[in-house]
Amino acid sequence: MEQPILEVEHLKKSYVSGTYVLEDISFSINKGEVVVIVGPSGCGKSTFLRCLNRLEEIDSGVLKLNGVSYEKEKKNISKVREKIGMVFQSYDLFPNMTIMNNLLLAPAKVQKKKKEEVRVEAERLLDRVGLLEKKDNYPRQLSGGQKQRVAIVRALLMHPEILLLDEITAALDPEMVREVLQVVLELAKTGMTMLIVTHEMEFARSVADRIIFMDKGYIVEENSPQEFFDHPQTDRAKQFLDSFHYEAVRK
Ligand code: ADP
Repeated sequence: MEQPILEVEHLKKSYVSGTYVLEDISFSINKGEVVVIVGPSGCGKSTFLRCLNRLEEIDSGVLKLNGVSYEKEKKNISKVREKIGMVFQSYDLFPNMTIMNNLLLAPAKVQKKKKEEVRVEAERLLDRVGLLEKKDNYPRQLSGGQKQRVAIVRALLMHPEILLLDEITAALDPEMVREVLQVVLELAKTGMTMLIVTHEMEFARSVADRIIFMDKGYIVEENSPQEFFDHPQTDRAKQFLDSFHYEAVRK
């Protein structure tokens, strides 16, 4: 059987002692797979992604990257994080640096790569997301959607084995959502392994190999997009989908 890139066994997480935000999550994702997590606000989706990246400490459970557990890893945690890239709702570009310098920062500093080599790759990736001409601009000169595409390029430059996308279009105006989602769809076609949290149901349906529905700290359903959207199994999933007027995504 194929070795999953990422595996999670019985993950529990609380912020306040005795109240678990993640109750008992087990999950795995294979190379090249795109998994989308959906669920009501506050059900623990973002916490789950942050636990995977060890931005949050977990209470118990096992996290494995390529079969090697890393839930207790301290010394090499930055190496683990390089392999598990993450893009957030807020793009967090440095305002006083050009787009190119923002992109060169981490690969040069963290991975000790030669700037010139990274620059060539950064230009190629900027071109791919339609932003090559913005390389010498400052973040304030870009729209939210453009900044988010830069943030995706920044994550890709680290050559992650898996990308975690946490509601990356949630802060964008509707007309910019599509241009960012288009980049993610293209990435999926190139075989990038991705775990995506989104409220964009139509996008979820088109990009996902598998949908995970979370509620109250549990994975309640796990299915193909078609099955999940057309035949949700639980009342909770049905209610959730109804709240999105999901007729729009029923093909
Ligand atoms: P989702 O991404 O599904 O909206 P979150 O993972 O952001 O859910 O939040 C899950 C629950 O954990 C919520 O009740 C939220 O208020 C709580 N929570 C999230 N982050 C923290 C934190 N840093 N400290 C305390 N509680 C938190």
